[in-house]
Amino acid sequence: MTRQQLLQRLAVIAILAAFVPLVFLGCVGKPPEAADPLWPAEHKGPKVVVSFAPLYCFAVNVAGDDAVVRNVMTTTGPHDFSPTERDVRVVTKADLFFVIGMGLDDSQAERMKEGSGNTKLKIVELAEKLPKDKLCEGKCNHAHHGADHKHDLDPHVWLSPDHAALMVNMIRDELKAADPAHAAGYDSRAAAYIKRLEAVKAEGLALLKDKQDNRLISFHDSMAYFEKAFNLEVRDVLTKKPGQEPEEKAMRKLIRVATDENKPTRVIAVEPQYSTSTSGEALKKELVAKGMKDVALVEFDTLETVKPDDLTADWYERKMRANLEAVAKALK
Ligand SMILES: [Zn+2]
Repeated sequence: MTRQQLLQRLAVIAILAAFVPLVFLGCVGKPPEAADPLWPAEHKGPKVVVSFAPLYCFAVNVAGDDAVVRNVMTTTGPHDFSPTERDVRVVTKADLFFVIGMGLDDSQAERMKEGSGNTKLKIVELAEKLPKDKLCEGKCNHAHHGADHKHDLDPHVWLSPDHAALMVNMIRDELKAADPAHAAGYDSRAAAYIKRLEAVKAEGLALLKDKQDNRLISFHDSMAYFEKAFNLEVRDVLTKKPGQEPEEKAMRKLIRVATDENKPTRVIAVEPQYSTSTSGEALKKELVAKGMKDVALVEFDTLETVKPDDLTADWYERKMRANLEAVAKALK
């Protein structure tokens, strides 16, 4: 055998070796559920999908071992999300789909439902079920959440622990209706989780209670509920659409608002998701040039995106505490 023949034969063996296991698996096959790790085959409880991370925490803490919860939006939050094939596959077998609504994530959920052919799936728009007097208007009156933005209300309801608790109770009621045999478990876990949310709120209020200066400029139009829950005053918004820099006119208005003698505002929130955005830095520079002292950028996470391996049941509490600590450190 020549060297070339030997190489050819080795190449054939290598190709066969690569294909044999595939062919073998294909013939023998596994039951489709086992081949699909998205939903555990042995679990008989409700299959719950949520749109993005805070809702995952709310649902998983109520679900306990009685229901399975899956999150579709991770590193891409609701502002920029478009569903992958995997997301549609998750939805195919789900019973419940919890979303915020208010034009933020509901159209994507409807699209996924349609794409999956799962006509039995119940989509629950949690924020739409909140009492109307609990909803706040945003600081900017432009549709910044896309063409399907329904009104000028701020949809970021999860940034208030009070609103979070109301949504936890809605999730509890849906799970009890879907799985009445485990109603007592859903009740007790929801109550225990709400106690933890109340603790987050109490800690935040304690951190901020002695602040004389409670004013800030938010990054995108997202802080109305956080502002209300923690007695802050959000004076203006840096960008109408996350990732888009303010135009010159908007920047001039921001400078005017921040340097208002009666209500000087020296704390500017920026978001870790948009670290490339320079608008916070640009405004800071302008304010410093105008002689303003102690201008501070504070990193505020709106909790719309998460690294998949960071999403644990206590993620919401951890992130809210981090936000509160960061804001408390910047305010005086
Ligand atoms: Zn947002």
